[in-house]
This record gives sequence, C-alpha cells and structure tokens, in this order.
Amino acid sequence: MVKTNVKVFVRARPTATRDDGLKLSPDSGNVQLHVPKDASMGLINNQQETFAFKYDGVLDNASQEETYTAVGHEVVDSLLSGINGTIFCYGQTGAGKTYTMAGDGRDYRQRGIVPQALHHLFREIDMRVDKIYRVKTSYLEIYNDQLYDLLSDKPGSSDSLAILEDAHGGTYVRGLTQLPADSEEAALMSFFAGDQGRSTASHILNASSSRSHCVFTIHVEMRFSEAASERAILSKLHLVDLAGSERTKKTGVSGQTLLEAQFINRSLSYLEQTVNALTKRDASYVPYRQSKLTSVLRDALGGNCKTVMVAHVFGEPGHVEETLSTLRFASRVRTLVTDVSSNESNDPGLLLRRYERQIKELKQELAMRDALSGRGRISYDDLSQAEVRAMHQLARTYLAGDADLEQLPVDTVRSIREMYKQMRAVFQATKADGGTASDGTTSTEAHASQQRQQQPAASGDDADGVGAVDASGGGFGVGTAPPGAKPALAPGTPRSPHRLITPNGPAAGASGAASPLPSSPAATMGGSLGGVMMGMAERRVAFSHFKKEAPDGTALAAVVAQRTQHLTELKRVVRASAAAVNAAKADIDRLGAEVAAAVAAAPPVGEDVVDAERHTLVAQLKAAKLKYRTTFDLLKEQRNELESCMLGVAEAKQQLIEAFNQWADTPGAALGDLEDDGTEDLDAGEAFERMQRARTMATNPDGAAFQAASRKTAVRPGALAGTTGGGGGTQRFGGVKAKGEAMRKREHELAIAAGLARG
Ligand code: ADP
Ligand code: MG
Repeated sequence: MVKTNVKVFVRARPTATRDDGLKLSPDSGNVQLHVPKDASMGLINNQQETFAFKYDGVLDNASQEETYTAVGHEVVDSLLSGINGTIFCYGQTGAGKTYTMAGDGRDYRQRGIVPQALHHLFREIDMRVDKIYRVKTSYLEIYNDQLYDLLSDKPGSSDSLAILEDAHGGTYVRGLTQLPADSEEAALMSFFAGDQGRSTASHILNASSSRSHCVFTIHVEMRFSEAASERAILSKLHLVDLAGSERTKKTGVSGQTLLEAQFINRSLSYLEQTVNALTKRDASYVPYRQSKLTSVLRDALGGNCKTVMVAHVFGEPGHVEETLSTLRFASRVRTLVTDVSSNESNDPGLLLRRYERQIKELKQELAMRDALSGRGRISYDDLSQAEVRAMHQLARTYLAGDADLEQLPVDTVRSIREMYKQMRAVFQATKADGGTASDGTTSTEAHASQQRQQQPAASGDDADGVGAVDASGGGFGVGTAPPGAKPALAPGTPRSPHRLITPNGPAAGASGAASPLPSSPAATMGGSLGGVMMGMAERRVAFSHFKKEAPDGTALAAVVAQRTQHLTELKRVVRASAAAVNAAKADIDRLGAEVAAAVAAAPPVGEDVVDAERHTLVAQLKAAKLKYRTTFDLLKEQRNELESCMLGVAEAKQQLIEAFNQWADTPGAALGDLEDDGTEDLDAGEAFERMQRARTMATNPDGAAFQAASRKTAVRPGALAGTTGGGGGTQRFGGVKAKGEAMRKREHELAIAAGLARG
C-alpha cells in the first residue's frame, strides 16, 4: 500500500476578458486570486483580498491532449496494472467540466479525457502480450439523488440499482449494466450512446448544462494468459463529470430546476463535508452514506484508488465568488490521502498459485537439465521469433526426409514442445494447401498473408480499420480530365485564348475584340461575360474550354493534373499501407482470440503440450503486434505527406478557378464550343467537405475508432459539452474546427462565384 495524495489540477476555460484578479501560473502550479472588497457577499472574508493556492498543475490554454497527458495518462497506466482510479471534474456550470471529460463527440480534435483514455487503454492492451484483458463499461447518472443506468435498454428505471460494499471495503453499484467492449470503438459507442441520455435542463449560464453527476466507469479484468487457473484481477476507472457547483441564488432558477439545484448543492455539500471529515487527522466518522454521490466516490476519496481532480474556473469578472469557492475546495481535496495498491499484488491466493506453477515449470526444466548433464548452460527464456522460424524450417526439412533425428533439438522442454508444435503446423499446412507451402513462412504467417490478399482495400467512409482513404480519386473534377477527353475541334478552328464561337458556327470574332455576339446566348451585353447571367452548364463548358485552350488555363490545369496524379499515387501507397496495418490488426485479433481460446480450453496446469501451444501463440501475437506498430508508424508518415499534397491540389484548383473568373469576366472573353465534355463535376462544396474529412483522417490516423463511433452513434449537436455556446463566447474559441468550416465555406463560395456550383 502506498499513501498518495489526491492530485489536483486547475483548468481555466478560455475567456475574452480574463479577470485581472486571477493569476494562473502553469509552470509553478500557483494560482492567485484577488478579490475586491466590495464583491464580498458574506462568503468572502473582508480582511483578506488576495488568496494564493498551489496545485499539482494549472492548465491555462492547454489543449485537450495536454490536459489528458497531465491528468489522465498515469491513471490509465496504473489501471492496467490493477490499480483503481478516479478522475473527477468539479466547478461551476459553464466552466468546462464536460468539455474536459467528454469533449466534443463530433470533433476528434476536441475529444476529452474519456475518448483519449479509451484510446490509450486499448492501445496498451494491444501491446501487452503477456496478459489477457477484458474491458467493460458502465455509465451511471445521479440525478436528484437517484441512480440511473445510462446504458440500460430500459432507461429511467432506477429501482433496481443499489450501492453496495464489496469484500475489500470498496463500493459498487449492483444492477448497473456493464457492456463488454472488445475494442476502442465499441467502448466509445457505449459512451456516446449513454451521453445522449443525460438529463439536461436549460440554465442561464449554459444552455445545455447538465444538472446531474455522471460516472462513466471502465472495468478492466486482467488474466495471465499462461495460467488459466488463476483468478482474474479486476480494476476500475471512474471518470466523473459532476454537476455545476454554483450556489442556487446566483442562477435565478425556480420550480423543478430549483429542486435539482438543491439536490446538487446538497450532494456537493455532502462531498465537501466528507472531504472535510477526511482531512481531519482523527476523523472517526466520515459521512459517506449521506448521499449517493459520496457513496459512489468513497474509494476515490479515501480508499484504494488513485484519484485526480480537475477543478474548473471561468475567470471572467463576475464569477469571482464561484472561482474562489472552487479554488478553496480544490486545495482541501489536495490534502486527501488515499491508499493505493494493486489489486493484483493484494491477493495472496493468487500469488501462491502463480508461484506453484513457476516452481513446477522450473522443476521440469531442471530434471531435463540433469538428464542432459554434461552440456553447457541452457537458456530457459522464451524462444525468439527467429528460433521458432528456424524450428519450423527444420520440421519441414525433417518431414521431407532431409534431416536426421539427431538434428532435432532436445536441450530444453520448451524447444522440444516447440518442435512438436512446428511439426504439427507443417503437417496441417501441407494438408490444407495440398503440399504447396514452400516459402519458409510458418503456417500462421501464410494464413495471414492469404487473408491480406483476400481483404479488399479499405475505402470510403465505411471501412472499419484505420486507413480508410477516399478511393474515388479526388471527387473534384477540375483538372483530372484525361488527355483523350478533349472535345473534338473542327479543323482550322482558331486556338486563340479569347476566341468566340457561336453554337452553330466557326469563329466569329477576333481575340480581344469587344464586339457583342448576339447569336451567342452567353455573350451578349458588351461582350463581358461577367455581365451576363450565364447558366451553370454554359459556365462549365466555358471552364472546360478555358482549361484546354487559354494559355493560363492549360498551364494551371496542367499543375492541377500533375499534383492530382501525384496525389493519386500517394493515395495508392497509403491504401497499401493501410491494408497492411489492417492485416496486422486482423492477425492480432485472430491470434488474441486463439490465445484466449487456448486459455479457456486449458486443462489443469500440467498438460504440457497445451502450454507449449500457448507459448507459440503468444510469441506470434507479439510479432504481429510489432508488425502492427511499424506499419502503423509508416502509415502515419505517409499520411502527413498525403495531407500536404492535398493542400497543394486545393491550392492549384483555387488558382485555376480564380484565373478562370478573371478570364471569363474580361470584356471580349469568349466561350468555347458549347458542348459539355461531360467530365466536369464541380460540386465544390461536397468535394471540399470530403477533402476536409480526409484531411482530418490524414493528420490523425489514431482517430479512426473515434470517427467511426461518433458517426455510428450520430451524436446530436451540443449533446456533450455545450457546443452551442452559452456563457457567451464559444465562437471565440472555435479554433481549428471553426477555421476548417470557414475555409470550406470560402472555397464553396469561390466555386459559386465562378458559376460552377450552386449556392
Ligand atoms: P460545464 O460542463 O462545466 O457546464 P462545458 O464543458 O459545457 O461546461 O463548457 C461550456 C462551454 O465552454 C462549451 O461551449 C465548451 O465548448 C466551452 N469550453 C469550456 N472549456 C473550454 C476550453 N478549455 N477550450 C475551449 N472551449 C471550452
Ligand atoms: Mg457539463
């Protein structure tokens, strides 16, 4: 058991007008708050005007990633070692609690602690091959001191839920749905789905403020893959988004909302009382049971749990009172001490069983060593991948009759088992392939590559794995016309850039001439095409002509075509890498399932052959994971390149359209053959939208699961952090997302202005 202080971070919501009295020092963790005397409303001590606090960290202008690194990373790492954790967000409504915990469910870049924790968790699980993990999620809401199961298919019923004590003095909620999650995406989907059921009520500080406490819990079950008889170790992480801590009088509410506010205030004041009682050295009575919230948080406040609090402040003038009360509570919480110990090392029975198994194995090894006395030191470590491969080759050679019995290894129990295992693998592979496996790969590898080939290249939005790239080759038709797509020109047709051609006849005007051409519906009124309401179809034809005939147009179109071709090549490369990543992932999943099945089907310890089989599977799993990592890293690099290439294409297209506008609006400019070559499809808005999506994916290949879960649960706007605003000022911190939207809009406007797309 290690005594640990609860860690406390302060996060400030960005403001346009930061209260001069609030000084945040992210480097030192210090916060200073100056309170003008006249702001006192009884709560504030008139004698004291400046308050100083110290915390474990101050997050001011911190990104969501930085916040997770500071607040969540360590707790999730511990969770995987069997240590319970709690992260809870506290603060007045509108200060950013939900933003920190959940973030924006539609925007990967604004994802909060929960999605980041799930990503981190599943990634780690993939890397830890020596253990088998099972993850479940639950989502509890406490509203008016009643418990609600957000993942139940019968929402609203709370009667069956009860908070009980477990054997170790911790608490759990009986009857709460626990949904198994075998992937990041599945876990995220429970979270998003549960989030949609949260009780919200309008409130003057924030239009979509939550009036309830929400506890999303990640339950992790860990087993040692090599010891099926050992009991699983359970640990859990509570991610808690508390209701607003503001005092009722300020928010001007009445009726039901007032009742809620009273419940919220009461449960938070019980939380304060509990914290106060715990901070007293000789606390004989801690009022945990007074409210559901304190009962649920019991471990987090004083039990076996690694606890982190994120206190939120909204540092605009007018909130000084709430800020002070949040800061004071936060520094009291920081003095709380919990007893952190791994649930794994806690269990003596478990340790005993593991030692027994180890001793048995060692005895077998030693007996073998004795029998072979006279030989040098023998390694008892796991066989390397190369050794396994060498044995596979040897098995093949031996079975083909090209090796002697003496060549087979007999130095350790492990290698003998491996040899048997490989013999079987070769035999089965030969049986399955009709004897064609001859490339030296193991049967598992052969199977994997077979799978790779069968797997269609990931494409489009619905591909589940990482690496879904837009397979359509750009969508935006400008500049991609193949050379042969050029419409036939009548022989002798002048190729001057501004030639005028009537729909029914050859050239009828000289270049640069401002002569109107009544016969052309598109070139009336002084010859200026800009002054003509040209139809979109005509405009498109003109555009096509511009690209093929005008010197500027051909040059710019060539740039677009060249960059697009490069983009297409890059996309092919990225798709291939993505397929490799997906194949590696499929291997991991399959081998993981095989390992799990082998464990489940394992007879009592001592059946050696089965043990050896598991060894090999685990080694193969390890190799597959390594492969996954390397291909994944490569993919990430390639995607960065893809992104800059996409930007290059967008830029070239923009230049082309601008030049076209200029050309078309110049007096005397003319239209080409009014014959649509059919290759243009300029729904620029859609094209840019798609590009934008691809761009997000290109920058964040890690976000595949998030994007998929977000899409599948179709999070409604503003369902999570009050993204619709309120509190005055969301628009100000729109950041990247807003920029992306503005860019998309501008680009769409550009195409509309050029008459190439509809508004
Ligand atoms: P709470 O849950 O504490 O009531 P929210 O998380 O709903 O508050 O935040 C209120 C508003 O402020 C939301 O629109 C949210 O997007 C925005 N917001 C809060 N914190 C930040 C931040 N650190 N960066 C950008 N926007 C933020
Ligand atoms: Mg909230």
